[in-house]
Amino acid sequence: MTSNDITSTLGSFELVDEAISKESDKSAYNWQPTHWLKFPVPENYDLSTPPWIRPEQVPLSFVGINVVDVENSKILPSMTVKLKNGKIESISKSVASHMQEKGWESINGQGLFLSPGLIDVHTHFTASPGQPNGQLVPSSETQTALAATHVLKGMLWRGFTTVRDVGGANRHYKNATEQWLIPGPRIFQGGPVMSQTGGHGDDGADSDKPITGCCSSNGTGRDSVVVDGVEECTRAARKMMRAGADHIKICSSGGVASPTDKLDSEQFTVAEIKAICDVVRMMVTAHCFTSPAARNAIEGGIGGIEHGHLLDEDTLKLMAKKNIHLTPTLIVQELLSKPPYESMIPIQSREKLKLVINGGYKVIKKAHELGVNIGFGTDCFNSMQNVQLSEFDLRKKVLNDDVILKQATINGAKILGMQGKIGIIQEGAFADLLLLSANPLEDVSIFNEPHKFVKGIVKDGRVVRSELRDLRVEVPLV
Ligand SMILES: [Zn+2]
Ligand SMILES: [Zn+2]
Repeated sequence: MTSNDITSTLGSFELVDEAISKESDKSAYNWQPTHWLKFPVPENYDLSTPPWIRPEQVPLSFVGINVVDVENSKILPSMTVKLKNGKIESISKSVASHMQEKGWESINGQGLFLSPGLIDVHTHFTASPGQPNGQLVPSSETQTALAATHVLKGMLWRGFTTVRDVGGANRHYKNATEQWLIPGPRIFQGGPVMSQTGGHGDDGADSDKPITGCCSSNGTGRDSVVVDGVEECTRAARKMMRAGADHIKICSSGGVASPTDKLDSEQFTVAEIKAICDVVRMMVTAHCFTSPAARNAIEGGIGGIEHGHLLDEDTLKLMAKKNIHLTPTLIVQELLSKPPYESMIPIQSREKLKLVINGGYKVIKKAHELGVNIGFGTDCFNSMQNVQLSEFDLRKKVLNDDVILKQATINGAKILGMQGKIGIIQEGAFADLLLLSANPLEDVSIFNEPHKFVKGIVKDGRVVRSELRDLRVEVPLV
């Protein structure tokens, strides 16, 4: 059966399609929450279920579509992929009868490519745009949460079906997108960043240290917690576990935006880092630019390095050997080096910035050659959120397209402990998918032209964006 055979049979199925559409109109697509109830209320009225919980997705199938096999860097042509109850139910070679199966809303996927949804493992979605001069300005917890609903919709609109927040978010955001209270990506969160006094995440509440940007704090004390000594580190880590953290993030070296902690400063002692890792026994990842600081963190037992732009070859070899993940963040550094964003960091930080920009490209290339698991991270905060997809273009300067797509899918899943569940198209995985009009294995920069190449976005089996006539949007991102 060729794709042409399927085309020639499509016309005769229009009536069946219509019938199926009418059937499914009763469910998810036309669902409305209950906003009205009359007294007296029925005795068996459900008081416990959140009223925003949606009915099960309409079973959906893409027929004749080209599946992007990210793991093997190849295309599986003319496949039928069925989505039910938020998962990928089956993947098989397409036959014409797949367009008329009862109970399924079947979409003709000919000429389209089906890619796993993207994963950004270094985001700060509570650092919202629209603040004076683009700076991080302390705002109330309520204002932060409300503004985050805008940022999260934007991330999903750009194709990121999963994000890891590394400083500021909590389990309430995760629950909100999981329940579709607000549309947004699947969220992994670690609560506030842990920093030593005077470290990258110390917001200077009791000193004259200015408020800093990336990975640290907005001056409210919510995005970072300052701890010193094994005892305080242990207690803070346990509190984060109690709060439901998916991971812990620490600052083990200085940062770019913060003027008083030197980039090459080593933050936290090995004993402190070890105490944190021993207590939580989950993924601990470290904001860290330099090799000595990374070695301290690795000795202490961390599982990931954020940025890492100045790491030397020996440290990268050690990371490959010990399966320590690396998440470089090229776009944030490039943005901060040019107008309009350069005003966000102090003038004395600009030299540091040059160093980490140049280092970032070298490290990402070398780390890939040495076999380090590299995640796709952007670190965009505040008014940078909309530039998130440009990380693809920057990585393309030094890496092949298929390698970058792996980083933004299956490598990210490894970092999150979600192998086989996200970042991949296989039976049983979550139905987080992108419909594209071009092959991303040949050119990943198509993701950064969403109006041109992204024809549909599905998360949890629910369509959130569509440019296809027959693919109906269940949850609009407005
Ligand atoms: Zn950082
Ligand atoms: Zn960061």
